[in-house]
Amino acid sequence: MPDAPTAPAPPAPAAAVPDTPPFLPFAVPDIGDEEIAAVLDCLRSGWITTGPRTRQFEHDFAAYLGGAEHAIAVNSATAGLHLALEALGIGPGDEVIVPTMTFTATAEVVRYLGAHPVLVDADPDTLNLDLAAAEAAIGPRTRAIIPVHYAGLACDMARVLALAAAHQLKVVEDAAHAFPTLYQGRLVGTLGSDATVFSFYANKTMTTGEGGMVVTRDADLARRVRLMRIHGISQDAFERYTSTTPAWFYEVVAAGFKYNLTDLAAAIGIEQLRKIDGFSARRQQLAQAYDAGLRDLPLRLPAGPGPGSSHAWHLYVVRLQAGARLGRDELIRRLSERGIGTSVHFIPLHRHPFWRDSCALAPAQFPAAEAAFETMLTLPLYTRMSDADQQRVIGNLRELLT
Ligand SMILES: *Cc1c(COP(=O)(O)O)cnc(C)c1O
Repeated sequence: MPDAPTAPAPPAPAAAVPDTPPFLPFAVPDIGDEEIAAVLDCLRSGWITTGPRTRQFEHDFAAYLGGAEHAIAVNSATAGLHLALEALGIGPGDEVIVPTMTFTATAEVVRYLGAHPVLVDADPDTLNLDLAAAEAAIGPRTRAIIPVHYAGLACDMARVLALAAAHQLKVVEDAAHAFPTLYQGRLVGTLGSDATVFSFYANKTMTTGEGGMVVTRDADLARRVRLMRIHGISQDAFERYTSTTPAWFYEVVAAGFKYNLTDLAAAIGIEQLRKIDGFSARRQQLAQAYDAGLRDLPLRLPAGPGPGSSHAWHLYVVRLQAGARLGRDELIRRLSERGIGTSVHFIPLHRHPFWRDSCALAPAQFPAAEAAFETMLTLPLYTRMSDADQQRVIGNLRELLT
């Protein structure tokens, strides 16, 4: 029988469910009225792509790092890593050392240039690059190393730089998690590597929606990154717009990329940067409260910073100890049922089909990353999280694990 037109169904009676607290995600950006007003100003200004706000953002970011670095804004950290490696001359056949415990961007940029990422295991304590494994991976074609400051704790950069000097390797720091992070009294970005790249992706310690910053003390490198950021055009659009040479004239001097940051994004970044010390203090506070609230559970808590160093606490990653009542996957499922979002950072690169197959990798080559991956989860930690939100996470972990 054909469907007859029917009256709309009456609304279902409200179910008598007890008040369930809202779902607590594992990360939320902290965007305030200042960012919103700055974007509106930019929209109304008539200049929305790379221009005065991007310049100011670069200037402010360099000033935050002490003023001795060049800062070049890009539309993602991935783009920034690509540009830095390109400017350093990494090319076909070269090998670049990359940790397996990272996001795929760290390795994929090496492939963009026709070079080969050589994945290495993690330090079992910090989950940063295992430097003994990195040294063992150096061969005649190794040209560079990309340390990742995992979760916001700096790698042992003194050792990284010594290793690089001994083997004539370039060093590009993937500092996507590490703003701001102190290493032995100095900020990541000022540690003397060839370049450092920060990310302003939505869940990072500050955001522009999408965006990144390349930082270097090398003026030639900075010039190359600026050039390749915008099509290999010798002057950017804003310079053309304001200079006294004819506005229509430009020269392409290389086959560049389209990696510039918009002023809309920079407007957000300028405001976020003004707030970064407050954001950072709140993250430290939340990390300390997790340390205190979880100490007696069967969890391995994240490694803290050494003397003179600090942790950006982009991520708070715990590992289930042997003998815990629940496995990792089960714990994530049970927390989710209770309205608590978590994540896993990271599924090691060697476990992803592309890297596993194209680099012929086996889990046995990465025992520390494997052991960590099986037991790790990332707890919610973000500046807009209230103390009560955090106590909910801690309380639920206590119920599930004791
Ligand atoms: C987020 C992230 C990136 C990429 O940053 P984008 O700005 O999204 O390109 C690179 N490396 C690591 C370790 C990251 O966590």
